[in-house]
Parts: sequence; structure tokens; C-alpha cells
Amino acid sequence: MQASLRRHRRKGFVRLILALILLAAAVWAGHLIRDRRLAPSDLETWFTSPEPIGRRSGDPLARLGIDPADVRSGGSSGGVRVVGLTNYWNGARAVVTHTADDSSPRIPDALAVLDRYGVKATFFVSTFHAGDLWPVLERAVNNGHEVGSHTRTHPCRFPPDRWFCILAYSNDELIGSRDRILAQVDQPHVWSFAYPCGHCPEFAFVRGKLRHAGYLVARIYPDELIGGQLAPGMNTWDRRPYRALYTQAVQKKGGISPEGRTDVALINGAFDEVYEAGGIYNFLTHPSWLDYEPGSFYERHLRHIARRGDVWYVPMGPLYAYRTVVERTRVHPLDDARFAVTHDLSPRVFPNSVTIEFDTGGREVASARTARGELALRSAGPSYGWDDEFYRLDNGRLLITLQPNTVLEIR
Ligand SMILES: [Zn+2]
Repeated sequence: MQASLRRHRRKGFVRLILALILLAAAVWAGHLIRDRRLAPSDLETWFTSPEPIGRRSGDPLARLGIDPADVRSGGSSGGVRVVGLTNYWNGARAVVTHTADDSSPRIPDALAVLDRYGVKATFFVSTFHAGDLWPVLERAVNNGHEVGSHTRTHPCRFPPDRWFCILAYSNDELIGSRDRILAQVDQPHVWSFAYPCGHCPEFAFVRGKLRHAGYLVARIYPDELIGGQLAPGMNTWDRRPYRALYTQAVQKKGGISPEGRTDVALINGAFDEVYEAGGIYNFLTHPSWLDYEPGSFYERHLRHIARRGDVWYVPMGPLYAYRTVVERTRVHPLDDARFAVTHDLSPRVFPNSVTIEFDTGGREVASARTARGELALRSAGPSYGWDDEFYRLDNGRLLITLQPNTVLEIR
């Protein structure tokens, strides 16, 4: 009798504890949802794998109205041979790309000096803090720079743990910031993301959520604690685009970093190595950790790397988009020196033009045109941009830069 009463009491006690736990969980979940930190859509993006970004279904040749029977075998037509797509846009030999972190009031100063030297950057802003910066960023985008996401509110805590990463990388932070950028500046897509304080790239669920949100590349910032400002040997596209590394940081001591990297000879030397190897020089800064007076380390470095005739200056997002466009573009020879150039990508996510090298066997080229019209002839010089169309003669090479999904005609 007494034993069964004890059992009964124990059961009641367990039920009470369970009910209290459930109540606490419900209150806490409500709190998270009310704060818009986590929403039901977060569950979906944690547990489903994202679709490839910006793919179009259907046959690209059929979209152009071309019968596959009209495509010639081999790589030539009308005495013009396709050599291939160039590794970098406009057949450049090396690339300079730059990223600048945080919604800093010094962004206008950084932009002024960048524009003096023609170096193009990705500005990673936390949109909740961008306030007065939007008109400045809008002008920057119109001038060939890019705005990337650095989340909405820049969550940061040392050291981060899994629970921190679950809260910090909510759709509200990732998609909310993306949509704010699209609403504020004239950019067709938000290609790039940077991890605030470099936190959380080690978690696959975080990288999956970034892909769900449509980002093509996510730049890391590792080892701030130990002043990791240099990544030796990093001189190309990162083969892990959601943990993308950079060549070096160029900035004063800031944040929790024990040191900066401002020695101009050292910084220029790291660029020279990448440039000599025909690589991608990708440098990082925080505009609030720079000096802006004439002759500062930043300006002297920009002067060193600027205006080189064989370099493509481009922000990080369009640079990574270019790689995908090259991978998925096909050149199909038709008759009479005509070529169908196709890919299966959305032109909104991938507005890039690509550069195709042709061999004309020494024959003069009078004109090149696509369905959109005659291409302009451009002379040699530094390469700026990523979506223009033109053609160029380079030591006997014919380089044609165009947006795919058109028919090219060489005369
Ligand atoms: Zn930051």
C-alpha cells in the first residue's frame, strides 16, 4: 500500500518536472521566434540539402533555336578554331581581388583611395548597422565594387561553440541581410559572404545554410586570436568556396588580433609572388584599421598593385561566379565561322561574360557580332569589370568576351 503510494507520488513528480521542462522550452522557443533569431524556416534549411545555385533546366541549344544536327564536330568553323576559354576574364595573366569587412564609417575613405587606383573590392557589411552607408555603397556598386553580406547584426563571441553558431547563422541573419542588400543597391545577386569574427565555418550546417541563401563564396578570417594575417601559398580560387581563404591581411592591429600587417615591403612582396605565378592575389582589410593620409601603407600598397596591363581587377563574388561560368560554358561550332556559346546558368545569378580565345590562322578579323549586336574592339590594358562584351587582338590571339547563350559570328 505504502509502496504503491510512493510510486504514484514519484510518477506525479516526474510528470511535473516534464511539464516544467516543456513549458520552459516553449517559452524559450517563443522568445527566439519573437526575437526573429530563429524561425520555422531554419529547421528546413538545417535538414535539407540545397539545390545547385542559379541552374536553369532545359537544353540551352534548343533555347537558341539551334538543331543539334547543325553543330559541327571538331573545334573549327570557317577557318576559325576555338582554342578555349581563358582562365581569367579578358585573357588576363593574374587577378587582384580585395575584401573589406564591417559597416565602418571609414568605408567612404577606403573607397576614395581604392577608386584613385582602380582596385575593386567586396564590402562586407552588417546590414543592420549600415545606416548612412547605403548611398555610398550604391555608388560603389555602380563603379564596379560589390556589396557582400556580413550578416545583419554581426554576432561575435570568443570562443564560439555549436549553440552560438546555431543562433548566429539563422535565416534572419543570412537571408535578411541578403534581401536588405538587394533592396538597397543595384546588384542582381549577393554572391559573397564573410563570417563575422571568422566564426563557425567548420560546421557543415552553417555552410549548407549559406548555400540555401544563394551565396557562391564565403570568406573566412581564421586565427584572429593568434594574428593569422598571412596564408602562404594561397594564390588561386579556393577549392572550398565556403571556407575561402585569402592571400594576406593588410591592416593595422585591431580587434583581438595581437598584431597587424603594415610593412609595405613585406606586403608588396607577397603580392609579387602571386603576380609572378599568374595567380589570384586576394587581400583583406578592415577600413577602420587603416591609415588614410597620403603615403600610408595602404595607399603605397595600392599604388604597387594598380593599373597593370595584364591584371584583372574584380571583386570576390564576380570572380568566383566567373569560375562557374567558365566550367559550364560550351562553344559549339556552326557553319561559316559562327559559334553557339551556351551554358545552363541563370543570367541573374551569373551575369558574367566569358572570354574565348580563337585562332584565325593569321586571317584578319573585320568584325565580331552576337545576336545582341556588333562587339566593340578594345585595346590592351588593365581589365576592369565582369559583364561587358568586346573583342581584342593580343599578339595574334583573338580574344572575344561575351555573355553566353548567343550565337557569335566572326567576319
Ligand atoms: Zn567583422
